[in-house]
Amino acid sequence: MMEKDRKRIKTGAIILAGGAGKRMKSSIPKQYMLLGGRPVIVYGLEAFEKSPVDQIVLVTGEDEVAFCREKIVRAYGLQKVRAVVPGGKERCHSVYEGLKALEDCSHVLIHDGARPLVSQQTIQRAMDGAVRFRACVVGMPVKDTIKVADQEEFAAHTPDRRFLWQIQTPQAFEYQLARSCYDELMKDDRLQQEVTDDAMVVESFSDVPVKLICGDYANIKITTPEDLYVAEALLAARERGSQL
Ligand code: C5P
Repeated sequence: MMEKDRKRIKTGAIILAGGAGKRMKSSIPKQYMLLGGRPVIVYGLEAFEKSPVDQIVLVTGEDEVAFCREKIVRAYGLQKVRAVVPGGKERCHSVYEGLKALEDCSHVLIHDGARPLVSQQTIQRAMDGAVRFRACVVGMPVKDTIKVADQEEFAAHTPDRRFLWQIQTPQAFEYQLARSCYDELMKDDRLQQEVTDDAMVVESFSDVPVKLICGDYANIKITTPEDLYVAEALLAARERGSQL
């Protein structure tokens, strides 16, 4: 890449922490639960702070904005966070608030705050992928056989595992591409209920193919109580110097 092109690239990251985390069965949303003595959300924020992204927007629940400004962004000295904004009802509404709060970005990385173990290599691969392919998501080939169920929960069919990936975040796009697709999504109430990731929005409202980029298996999403134990173990392994 030419130096002048590199200078024109300005990457913003949206870190999502606006979910209620119902599957965690805890009164505290999963992103604020403690992992290795620190709130889960701090890990992802610090990973993006350390990365080459230029600015970060943190999206939280409506009642958590002041807490996050004080007890997360200020307390942990996060310099790249330019705004903490309230999210919306579904994940896609929170992403939209994040997109609106970013300033002057050529590219955007969207990351679940509930994925604390994202590595620098994964962030870099997503950034490179966004520049090269315009739209990319990190993920990993599935390890288990996946079955599609019918209405009565009998196996309807079994897709070929060689073509199945489990999708993670970051999901990375040219900013204008993501923004225009999300603008369209906001006019479509039905699809707003259906989308579960950002790639689906770009697949629905543009012709740009979304490239799948290798993430890593340690980049888990803290969703149910056992995930916290797995994350603790992975974190401890990393602290012992493992490349996990
Ligand atoms: O619900 P799910 O596990 O897919 O959420 C993924 C991420 O999106 C989490 O980090 C969660 O905090 C965030 N989210 C959000 N706003 C919502 C719902 C989820 O920021 N309304």
